Amino acid sequence: MRFRVSQELRQPFGTEFDLELRQRRLFLDDDAALKDLEGRAVLLRTDRGLLVSVRARAQVLGSCSRCLSPAESAIEIDFQEEFIPVVDPVSGKHITAEESEASFVIDENLMLDLGEPLRQYALMSSPSKPLCRPDCAGLCPTCGANLNEGPCPCPPQSDDRWQALAALNTKDREGR
Ligand SMILES: [Zn+2]
Ligand SMILES: [Zn+2]
Repeated sequence: MRFRVSQELRQPFGTEFDLELRQRRLFLDDDAALKDLEGRAVLLRTDRGLLVSVRARAQVLGSCSRCLSPAESAIEIDFQEEFIPVVDPVSGKHITAEESEASFVIDENLMLDLGEPLRQYALMSSPSKPLCRPDCAGLCPTCGANLNEGPCPCPPQSDDRWQALAALNTKDREGR
């Protein structure tokens, strides 16, 4: 998601610009991607560069934390970051190494790349345990079958509370 901001950087401080954001796919990391990103960015010319405020929504594509099938979660991405040009087109001032480490930069072609901050903030607002559906039955711990597709041949699993109770019962019996 790259935008040319040569005109924006030549405007006086305090000038605001609106950008429409629309991206069908944006890869986040090895096994996650954003789908149908839609939103707006407001660019404010500052004395150092552009202060970018982004408000967007998208679907995160990942894998279900219970059954590993594809899972989609709706997220909102909301952030504000200052982007500093490597070389200011008006003053010709070069960025210092310190500044380039601490902030996002606009490259020497005056292209502003929203891909990296979008990735970072999308990962932050992604659910840590995504589900393919709220009532996902998960995989059988014994045979690995996907229990959403129906029961597996293993004996039925009791839930943890019953297992704890059963263990107590066994202890009782052994104690006698
Ligand atoms: Zn699932
Ligand atoms: Zn099984």
